[in-house]
Amino acid sequence: MINLYTPSEIVGKLDEYVIGQDDAKRVLAVAVYNHYKRVQFAQAGGSDVEVKKSNIMMLGPTGSGKTLIVTSLAKILNTTFVTADATAIVASDNISDEINKMLVKLLDKTNGDVHAAEMGIVFLDEIDKLVTGVNRLKGESIQQIMLKIVEGTIADVVYNGQTVKMNTNNILFICGGAFVDLPGIVRTRMGERDTILLSDFDVLKQVVADDFATFGMIPEFCGRFPMVVVLQALNHAALKEALVKPKNSLISQYEKMLAVENVAVEFNEASIDKIAEIAEKLQTGARGLRTVCERFMTQIMYDIPNEKNLKKITITPEVVTGDAKPIYHYSVSQASNELVPLTPLSLRETSPYSEEGGDLGKGY
Ligand code: ADP
Repeated sequence: MINLYTPSEIVGKLDEYVIGQDDAKRVLAVAVYNHYKRVQFAQAGGSDVEVKKSNIMMLGPTGSGKTLIVTSLAKILNTTFVTADATAIVASDNISDEINKMLVKLLDKTNGDVHAAEMGIVFLDEIDKLVTGVNRLKGESIQQIMLKIVEGTIADVVYNGQTVKMNTNNILFICGGAFVDLPGIVRTRMGERDTILLSDFDVLKQVVADDFATFGMIPEFCGRFPMVVVLQALNHAALKEALVKPKNSLISQYEKMLAVENVAVEFNEASIDKIAEIAEKLQTGARGLRTVCERFMTQIMYDIPNEKNLKKITITPEVVTGDAKPIYHYSVSQASNELVPLTPLSLRETSPYSEEGGDLGKGY
């Protein structure tokens, strides 16, 4: 059963998982809301006015959250969701088979429930790779073959050895890609002088179908993705937030992993800053945060199971740059820990000089 939240409710829930990208969240929320309203409308026997499906094209640099937004949306809506990669389709010797796999995956997810699969979301990533480099001709054929499925057709899908008829009319297709050369194409069309002060993000918001055609996509294919959503590269402040704020943030994942060893982990403010600073230089967006963290956390997670009485570790900027070990906080002082076991417990618990005495106190 799909949760049909209002667009503002969807944005509110997306905010729990995705930092920034406010424009994209709003446009996507309206698009998916309209899509599922349209599906409900059609299922209720609708009127004679057919509302056309609006598939979505997401443009944004790597690590800006394209996949994260779509997976979060699918979770929020409780809809069947699969991802496919255009590079895998290009690499395949049997294009049609590879394209059909997207529908098979939907059926897999619903355990063969065709009706549920027919209302799913397919996220087709790296769509720009269809037409970059040596792939251009093959990529064009792939787009041609996909036209019908993306627009809505009855497709024959072989599932568990049986041919199943699947209506793709209510499947929402969302394509994602970095489209690295696209801002340049838009700038050339609009005139360098008029766009010189605009960021790539602002330029991409002006993209039109002709620009996609100049990029190499076939116009009929892009025409089936009338909604265009643009994501922004995350800046330093957004990268810091992405580390700590989202549900299931990277920091909370490390906290959970170390909690298994009964050790708390504290990232001080300066270390968060340093992680974001190094990640920004990698130019892989929020994806870089994990790369940076793994470099020092792997050694820490190797060392910690050997520690006794370790209660907490503090990550400092020097740990992040690989120049120091974390600060270790023990529940028992390490020095006293070596001495204490030599004294029988019964003697340690009460002082010889206390009121009650203790064995040693008696007689004094
Ligand atoms: P893309 O599909 O744009 O290349 P992903 O969505 O796969 O990027 O993101 C890569 C990693 O970075 C994921 O771990 C994701 O959680 C994190 N991430 C990316 N963008 C954001 C964001 N806007 N807010 C929070 N985390 C993000």
